Order: sequence, then C-alpha cells, then structure tokens
Amino acid sequence: PPSSHVQGGEVIFPELPPLHNGHPEVHLRTGIMDAHRRAADHEPDAEKAFFVADLSQVYRQHLRWIACLPEIQPFYAVKCNPDPYVIRLLAALGTGFDCASNNEIKMVLDVGGIDPSRVIFANPCKAVSFVRNAAKQGVDMMTFDNADELYKIARAHPRAKCVVRILTDDSKSLCAFGIKFGAPLVTVPGLLAKAKELNLDVIGVSFHVGSGCYDPSVYMDAIMRARAVFDMGKEAGYTFKLLDVGGGFEDALFERAAVVITQAIDRYFPDRRDIRIIAEPGRFYISKAFRLAANIIARRAPLTKPLPPAPSQDVNGAEANSDAPAVMYYINDGVYGAFNCILFDHQVVHPYVLSMNGSFHIASSEPTHTCSVWGPTCDSIDCVSAKTVLPSALQVGDWLGFDNMGAYTVCAASQFNGFELSNVIYTTGGPAGNEVRNTLAAFAAEGHGL
Ligand code: PLP
Repeated sequence: PPSSHVQGGEVIFPELPPLHNGHPEVHLRTGIMDAHRRAADHEPDAEKAFFVADLSQVYRQHLRWIACLPEIQPFYAVKCNPDPYVIRLLAALGTGFDCASNNEIKMVLDVGGIDPSRVIFANPCKAVSFVRNAAKQGVDMMTFDNADELYKIARAHPRAKCVVRILTDDSKSLCAFGIKFGAPLVTVPGLLAKAKELNLDVIGVSFHVGSGCYDPSVYMDAIMRARAVFDMGKEAGYTFKLLDVGGGFEDALFERAAVVITQAIDRYFPDRRDIRIIAEPGRFYISKAFRLAANIIARRAPLTKPLPPAPSQDVNGAEANSDAPAVMYYINDGVYGAFNCILFDHQVVHPYVLSMNGSFHIASSEPTHTCSVWGPTCDSIDCVSAKTVLPSALQVGDWLGFDNMGAYTVCAASQFNGFELSNVIYTTGGPAGNEVRNTLAAFAAEGHGL
C-alpha cells in the first residue's frame, strides 16, 4: 500500500491506504526520512515524490461552505480530484456529487450509501451510452445545452430530470468554459419547446462562471440570467425547481463570492420556497488539502547557446543578465504528472525547500540564487518553474515542497516516459482531525465505503 511506510496509520477502509493523525508537515518529514531509508536499502524509486493529503482541511472547507452558503447544497465536482477518501468524507458529510462520466458515477455509487439522487450528471454533451447507463444507475439529474442532447436523453433516459446549462460571462476566470458549453439565452426558448415536444422534464437551470473565478461579481449577472431562464421555463409550460450555480469558487475569494451569490439570490429569487439551490464546487474543497514533496534528482548548469547568434539576438546582453537562472534543477514529478495543472489549469507553482543536505531546518539567511525547476521526462516542455529563487546550496537528493496541489493535479496526471504517479499519504492532522476520523469511522460502521 502506498503509505504503509508511515507508521501508526488507522485502518478504517481496509482497501485504502491507512489514515494518519499528525500535522501534514510531520508527514512530509516522515515521508522524506523514509525515502532516505529506502534509498539506503537500494530500493527502486526510493526517492519517489509523494503527496500529503490533509482530510481535515477538506472538512474545514465544508464548514466554511455551510457557514457562508447555508441555503446551497454543494455537489462536489469529482473531476477536480476523485480521491477515494475525499469522496467518502464528503459522502459522509452529506454533499452531492457532480459527475462527468460513467466512471465518475461508478466511483461515487460504488462507495455505497449514496443515493443516485445525490448525483448530477453535469456534462452537457454525453455519449448516448452514458445517458443510458445513467438511467440504469438511477442517476436522473443531467444537464443539456443543445437539441441533439435532448433527442439522446428522450431516447435513452426519458425519465431524466433535465437541467438547462446556460452561457454566462466567464471572462473573469482562469479556465473559461463558454467556448465549449452553455446555451446562449436566445436559444433557450427553442430548446425548452423541443424538450416539451419530446415530453422531457426540465427541472431547472445551471451555469458555470469558469474555473478559478477571480471576480465574483460575475455571479450576480449569471443569477440574473438564470432568473430570466426560469421565466422562459414558465412560458414553455415548466415550473422549474432547481437552480445550480456551478463551480468557480476560489479559496481566497470564497467569502466575497458567497456574499454576491446570496445577494443575487435574494434579489432575483425572493420567493424560493419551492426552489432547491445547488452548486458544483471542485477546487474550493480540495486545492489546499494536498501538498507535494518532490526530490531533486539532477542538477546542471543552464545551456549556453551552442549556435552562433542570429543577428537580432543580443547574446552579450542575455549573458550579462545576472537574473537569468544560474542552475537547472530536475525533480521527479513534472507537467506530465501532478504539474499538469501548469498546462491545463494555468497554475503557477512556487517551490520551497523541505529538506536540504539531510536537514529540515533551512536558515532564512541561507544564500539564494535564481534557478529553474524541471520535471523528469525527456521532453523540454516539462518545465515546472522557469524562474524561481532557491538556496544556492541546494543539490541532488534534497527535497522541494509545493502547496495547493489538490485541484486538477492527480486526476489528469499521466505516466508518460514510464514515470509512476506520486503516492498519497493521508492524514487528518489539522484542526478538526478527530471529527473527520469519527465521521469516517461512523460511515464505515454503517457498511459504506468498504
Ligand atoms: N462543474 C462543471 C460542469 C465543471 O466543468 C467544473 C470544472 O471543470 C466544475 C463544476 C468545478 O469547477 P471548480 O473546480 O472551478 O469549482
């Protein structure tokens, strides 16, 4: 099992790695010390990179959600990180799940104890076989944004509870989705008429302002549009009962987003006794919970230009630039692995030193230099940080840490060049750890998640 090398783990779900107590920092160190031991024993891949996942951080995000948006039920976006512990914890806490595919639906329902009504199949463009499978699994809630999808649903899941995904302003987000999904408002009356004609039940409206939304004011406009679509629904002969405000929640801006959403709902849905409001947060729940420890496996001087300069290139100027990276470090996870978030999720990562020359104590007076950090594959796109500042004494065998590595990382990592995915060590080490362990133990005692 991936984390068996960390001592003293509690076994709640026998098929999962053990669950530890203790601060994530402690587990980063224990993992590193264990890697040193395995290296001394000449074990293959002894210095393998690893995550430390703090489930109590996920729990605290849930408490934050409940405190700020008590009226809105979160349906965790599984795609963000389909971690088995995270799914179990959120299931035990009563959230719903936003699934994008058959496998995500299976992952959630296989946990046991999760009624299919707690799943929304929130992918507006599904293969017909996936729609049929959803029907078989009892997953009724699903989104659509085009007429073909309605034909498919009518054929493969006529009892579905359809949710129209509308286009909203996604220009204030790291990852915009409007280029691919969302019905422009002008097309909605036609879609609803088609749904009526096909005898389908449309129960409400969803939108997504884009992932990593850095201007929460966009939720106001999106909810105003959703209101307009509720009115279109009435015109078409429907009484909508569901408003789905999607995802996009950024940790640092969450409270601000919550205020905007609450105000918008009060303004546009003053009478909402018969309306259920849900959301599909991903990043918010999981980003901070995972940290990554990666080993420096190689170090080299930066390439000096081997070819004569083109006339326009000021090589002397470039060489004189003292700010240019002095050293290239190569670590054992990269953009084909956990750091795919750099390419796909537009993230910028910030390495820091976890251990240097066998010591966890890094003096703040340590001299530094500008350097670059690269992943382990033979591809030159595999650059983790083109320019960063780290201690000059850093060398092969030392360890770097990366925070906020929970969202859109593990889930899209590949094994390109034969590198294995990094393992996860689980802990409940932060505040509220006992509550998390009790919650999971009670869930397991009911026979779920085993
Ligand atoms: N809902 C849908 C339909 C999505 O496509 C996504 C992200 O891709 C999410 C929710 C989660 O978004 P976020 O992680 O920004 O909360």
